[in-house]
Amino acid sequence: MNCQYCQGDCVKNGRQSNGQQRFRCKTCCKSQQATYHYKACQKPIRDLFLKCLKAGNSLRGITFITGISVNTQIRWIRKLGKVLKPPSAIRLYDEYELDELCTYVGNKNRRRWVISAISRSTGKVVAIKTGTRTAQSLKVVVDKLLCLSPIAIHTDRLIAYRSLIPPEIHKIKAHGINKIERYHLNLRTHIKRLNRRTICFAKRIDMLNHLVRLHAWN
Ligand SMILES: [Zn+2]
Repeated sequence: MNCQYCQGDCVKNGRQSNGQQRFRCKTCCKSQQATYHYKACQKPIRDLFLKCLKAGNSLRGITFITGISVNTQIRWIRKLGKVLKPPSAIRLYDEYELDELCTYVGNKNRRRWVISAISRSTGKVVAIKTGTRTAQSLKVVVDKLLCLSPIAIHTDRLIAYRSLIPPEIHKIKAHGINKIERYHLNLRTHIKRLNRRTICFAKRIDMLNHLVRLHAWN
C-alpha cells in the first residue's frame, strides 16, 4: 500500500480498536488505514475542505459540499490554527504597512478588529492580532515589526500609533497603505465571516483568529 501523505511504502502495523488493519509509512511514519468508514478521515476530503474554506464558503456551506459536520470542521480549524507560525524567512530593513479591519464577534454590538502588517517588498503577512483596537493590541503588532529593524512603517492617521512607532520611521502619507488595504479586501472576499453588510460573523474571537492565520500562513 502507498502512503496517502507522501506516497511512500507502508507496512502492516497492528489493528485499530474496531479490528481494521492499520498501516505505518516507512518514510513519514504516519499511521493510516487502506479504507476509511468515516468521510472526514479521507485525505482528499480534508484537502477539499481547506480549498472551500479559502473560497469564501461558510462552514454550513462546506457541509453541503463535503458532507463533513460543522463540529468536525471547527475541531480541524482549531487544530491547524494552533500550530501556524509566521514565515521564518523574513527580510530585515524592509518597509511595512499596518492597518486594521473591522468586524463583529458574537453580536453586532461587539466590534473587533483584525490588525495585520504586511511587507512592502514581498507582500507577505508578518504579524496578525485579533481583538479590540486599543493601544495594547496595536503594540503587539508594532513590537513584532520593530524587532525586524524596519526602515519605514506606513499606517493610517490613528492617534494611538504616534506613541507606539518612533517618529523617524512612522509614515502617514496618502496612498501609503494601499497594499494592506487590498489584502484586507481579499480577506473580506475569501473569508465568509468577514463579508460586509451581512448578518454572518464569527461567534468566537479564537475562530476568527485561526481563520485569518490559516488564510495568511497555510
Ligand atoms: Zn508517508
